[in-house]
Amino acid sequence: LKTPVGAMAVLADALTGEDDSEMVQRLVGRMVFEAERAARTIDDLLQLTEIELGTVIEAVPLDAVALLSTAADRVRHSASERSVEIRLVDRAEPVTVVGEPRQLASALGNLVENAVKYSEVGGRVDLAVDGDGDGVAFTVTDDGVGIPQRDVERIFERFYRVDKARSRELGGTGLGLSIVKHVVLAHQGGVSVESRPGQGSTFSVRMPVQLGEVSSIE
Ligand code: ATP
Ligand code: MG
Repeated sequence: LKTPVGAMAVLADALTGEDDSEMVQRLVGRMVFEAERAARTIDDLLQLTEIELGTVIEAVPLDAVALLSTAADRVRHSASERSVEIRLVDRAEPVTVVGEPRQLASALGNLVENAVKYSEVGGRVDLAVDGDGDGVAFTVTDDGVGIPQRDVERIFERFYRVDKARSRELGGTGLGLSIVKHVVLAHQGGVSVESRPGQGSTFSVRMPVQLGEVSSIE
């Protein structure tokens, strides 16, 4: 939060007394960008807090494939800008997952966004849903930069980012995966990662078929 707010202060300062209209346009454009970044961070923090407070989850049956497909649609634009192909593995039968729609959309959205963001140009992202008597599994696979073993355990921590320079360049705050973890735990599910630097990563989320008494996470 300090970074975008600090940037806005500097930009506002630079705007004072500036009368070159092209420069004003440029500075204002950057201020809007920084304001959006701050707004996103605040949204993420609010969402985390809401889940942590243990607000009772209003779980409903949802179409698992549709959830993943919506998550893919949200990043299709940025994916095509970098020629990253997103494929959703087709399924003959529908799979139902039980959960809070907004939270699940956010968790899957963060995983798909990461898969695209940490892919190389021309990369590929595969999305799949599997359901059986035990539960529903979502997998998000990319052939991107991968995550070194020593970082894998830490990436779910708030604000933790592997390659600081690269991450700064790509934008974001390091809250995405902590939202994923909190959402999944609040739904009594689990999340795991398999990754190899330079080869790619697979994030798997498992959700139980039915939710028992759920509310807060310890
Ligand atoms: P934000 O999601 O808040 O915009 P972010 O993407 O940096 O920012 P997280 O989603 O929490 O934060 O991810 C934490 C870190 O884990 C990332 O900075 C990146 O280093 C690493 N990471 C996450 N997903 C992947 C992936 N699919 N491939 C490689 N590295 C990843
Ligand atoms: Mg992210």
